[in-house]
Order: sequence, then C-alpha cells, then structure tokens
Amino acid sequence: MHELSVAAEMFRVVRVSARREDVVVVDLIVISVGDLSCVHPSALCAAFSVVAQDDPVLGNASLQIYRQSVVLRCRRCAAGHAVFNGQFSCVACGSGRVRVERGRDVIVDSYRGRSRDDAEVTAGQ
Ligand SMILES: [Zn+2]
Repeated sequence: MHELSVAAEMFRVVRVSARREDVVVVDLIVISVGDLSCVHPSALCAAFSVVAQDDPVLGNASLQIYRQSVVLRCRRCAAGHAVFNGQFSCVACGSGRVRVERGRDVIVDSYRGRSRDDAEVTAGQ
C-alpha cells in the first residue's frame, strides 16, 4: 500500500520538525497531494492514523488535504499549462515533449501545534 509509506515519511518529517521547533502537540497538518501522485486522500488519512497512533506528539493530529492539479511545461516552446482531459501534450504548440512541473508529489505544506509553554506554533517546511 503506497499510502502507508507516504504516511510514514510525512510522520517522520513533521516529527523531526516538531522536535526542532519545541512543539509538544501537533493538532493539524496541511498537505498537498498531487493528482499524479497516485495517493488517495482518504487512504492517506487512514494510513496516517495507523502510523501516528499512540504517538504523544502526532497521535491526535488531523490532516487537511489539498489536491494539487497537474501543471506541464513544454520542452519545445516553454509554455506552462494545466493538464486537461489527461492530454500530455502542449496546448500551445502541440508538442508531446512535456515534463510534469507540478502534481506528482505529496508535500507537507505546514502544521500547527502547541509548544511546551502552550503557545500556538505554525511551522512550514
Ligand atoms: Zn509547446
């Protein structure tokens, strides 16, 4: 299950950052999931709750997931555009020589939690 390894990596990234920022409880994690990442948001939530369960810092964190649409960049004319109807070709010049500029990854955008002295902390990556 792909989502389980993604959730484990998310957990690791936020856990390391929370330790560095002296955050003792994380209550919200904001994530972007690319449309080409093959990650299903509901499966990711389920996987994360398995990975984070019983963890004192991340055990009660909820996920806020945003879908990130795909953006292609043409290698021939350098036009950038969103994918429509799954067509991997340039809308400007018709070339099939395009690369995926956005939409392939799962990114932790930020998280929110509380520090040891109960101050609210928002941290980005
Ligand atoms: Zn083009």
